[in-house]
Amino acid sequence: MPANLLDFDLEGLADFCAGLGEKRFRAVQLYRWIHQKGESDFERMSDLAKSLRAKLAGCAAVQRLAVISEHVSADGTVKWLFDVGGGNAIETVFIPEADRGTLCVSSQAGCAVGCRFCSTGHQGFSRNLSTGEIVAQLWHAEHQLRARLGLAAGERAIDNVVMMGMGEPLQNYAALVPALRTMLDDHAYGLSRRRVTVSTSGMVTMIDRLRQDCPVALAVSLHAPDDALRDQLVPLNRKDGIQALLDACVRYLEAAPRDFITFEYCMLDGVNDSPAQAQALVRLVQGRVLCKFNLIPFNPFPASGLHRSPRERVLAFAQVLQDAGIITTIRKTRGEDIDAACGQLAGEVQDRTAVQQRLARRSAVIPIAAASSAASVLASAPASGVAS
Ligand code: SAH
Ligand code: SF4
Repeated sequence: MPANLLDFDLEGLADFCAGLGEKRFRAVQLYRWIHQKGESDFERMSDLAKSLRAKLAGCAAVQRLAVISEHVSADGTVKWLFDVGGGNAIETVFIPEADRGTLCVSSQAGCAVGCRFCSTGHQGFSRNLSTGEIVAQLWHAEHQLRARLGLAAGERAIDNVVMMGMGEPLQNYAALVPALRTMLDDHAYGLSRRRVTVSTSGMVTMIDRLRQDCPVALAVSLHAPDDALRDQLVPLNRKDGIQALLDACVRYLEAAPRDFITFEYCMLDGVNDSPAQAQALVRLVQGRVLCKFNLIPFNPFPASGLHRSPRERVLAFAQVLQDAGIITTIRKTRGEDIDAACGQLAGEVQDRTAVQQRLARRSAVIPIAAASSAASVLASAPASGVAS
């Protein structure tokens, strides 16, 4: 098996190149070709010595993900479904906004946490993605979009990455950290530390490790103001509880000064959406954690047995938080027509036949070859801002 060069951050690639008898600056050149130019063919990396190109051809590859399908929403959101082998698929979503482009990236096929309101959680866990599979989602999306949107050299399509696709990123820590480093590296995607967000259901020990290793922006999926309810909604809460989670958030901000924690809160009708619960949240965080709240309208799926909170209830909930001086946004749901909204991802991963049948039924399917039609949809997408 050739080594997958997408598995390496720059240090890893330098070590790999040293093993081939090559100096570090060669690794930098190679890294830039792959990530900045989107090149995967060593023969076209014109300023690499012929001898190095030959060595690479014998032992390495840039392994792209196999695309099963691509959908473009009426609002310009793009969703890719990638085959990661063994009957597993993962999804990646691009969300264009007026002032930025955000990519929502998956970290696992399935998820072991099993949150009540999440369709990924209901499917169970298949496997961790490798670093290369995490990075390949960004590599594919960035270079596809650049070409389609006709961006000039040096312009980028994606300037914001959120690890909010399928999976719990902190349960795949060893693969996650080198992927984050590649996202941040100026020789690769050069994203700012505050524009790469790890979203977690709240693994306390791993939040502490991330703080030491790579303190990017942190979003914590809170969903409840007390342990009794959070234990029900997010089963891993039973391990540490909310108080220990908040302490970890406070420690995190010590390593990321001038930052804040984003608490995500999925609004579930009659479950966690009362004004009293909003007040309990205020008591929990006020004067303790620098934070903002992002209220997510629940995206229902039949097996959950749960319902979306009515709009007025969400607004009233937000008002309580805002009155207490906590910045609160309500996430605008994007890409609903192509099932690209939070918690709707890759509902059929285990059953490829069902995936194909369902895709065939959908009129919005864009054949991969027909990239130009997707480009026109993207180009004409309304540039509406998202409150997140
Ligand atoms: N595992 C991580 C990241 C992936 S989930 C986490 O839980 O944070 C990304 C976000 O989508 C989380 O805030 C999660 O709570 C939310 N989410 C999951 N299912 C949802 C649904 N059905 N409707 C709305 N948001 C959902
Ligand atoms: Fe996993 Fe996040 Fe879904 Fe919970 S919300 S099951 S942690 S992906």
